[in-house]
Amino acid sequence: MDCLFCKIAAGEIPSQKVYEDEDVLAFSDISPVAPLHVLIIPKKHIESLAALSDDDSLLASKMLFCARDIAREKGFAEDGYRVVTNCGARAGQSVKHIHLHLLAGRDFEWPPG
Ligand code: AMP
Ligand code: ZN
Repeated sequence: MDCLFCKIAAGEIPSQKVYEDEDVLAFSDISPVAPLHVLIIPKKHIESLAALSDDDSLLASKMLFCARDIAREKGFAEDGYRVVTNCGARAGQSVKHIHLHLLAGRDFEWPPG
C-alpha cells in the first residue's frame, strides 16, 4: 500500500523515533509546530478515526497512553499539552493513516483554527 506512515512504520522511510513497541510507533513530526511535536501511529493501517473499528479499542487506548507517557517523560505533564487527531478533509488531514499529534512546549489557543 502506498502509505507514507506505513512505510515509516516498516522502517522503509526514516524517522526520528521517540517510542516503539509491537503495535505503536511515535516519531518526531518533520515540520514541528511546537517545541515538542510527536506523531503517534498504529503500525497497522487505519485511515482515520472515522475508520477505527470497535475491535481496535485496545490499540486506540495504547495510542492515547503513549501520548500521555511521552508527555510525562519529556516533562510536560504539569504545564499541559495538546493531543489532536485531524479526521478527514475538513479537519485538514493530509496523511491518511490515523495519527495523534502530541504538541507541547508553548501556549495553545482555543478554539483552534
Ligand atoms: P495531518 O495534517 O494531521 O494529516 O498531519 C500529518 C503530519 O505529518 C504533518 O504534521 C506533517 O508535518 C507530518 N509529516 C509528513 N511527512 C512526514 C515525515 N516523513 N516524517 C514525519 N512527519 C511527517
Ligand atoms: Zn498506512
